[in-house]
Amino acid sequence: MRFVADAMLGKLARWLRIIGYDTEYLPSAGDDELISAAEGGGRLLLTRDGELFRRAVRRGVPAILIKSTAIVEELSEITRTLGLRLSGETRCPLCNELLVEGGDGPDVPARGKVWECPRCRKFYWHGTHWLKINETLEASGLR
Ligand SMILES: [Zn+2]
Repeated sequence: MRFVADAMLGKLARWLRIIGYDTEYLPSAGDDELISAAEGGGRLLLTRDGELFRRAVRRGVPAILIKSTAIVEELSEITRTLGLRLSGETRCPLCNELLVEGGDGPDVPARGKVWECPRCRKFYWHGTHWLKINETLEASGLR
């Protein structure tokens, strides 16, 4: 499952990447561009805009109208609706590249799993936000 998110869903886009889903985030794209990106890339359009949602559906582009405003609820709304499972993969929240486990950069903390983005050269590890999201998804039966 791949996604494209509208301008209002930047945080959701980052979290979908963190839980491993290929998510394009186009904050400055207009409605037509978003619909084309979804259509051309075989992506599911995520939007908070009812008008855009209806236009996408009329053009046969799969879309989800996001109603929740809290990030954890947004994520569980999507994962429940689509029956998604966590893949075990994780992507760079900034650029969407698949992260590579390991790495020994100077800023890597000593404990826990570490991932590196091959494109940004940034290191990530599972901090408190990640743990909170993961616990919530686990509680809703996703893992
Ligand atoms: Zn990156």
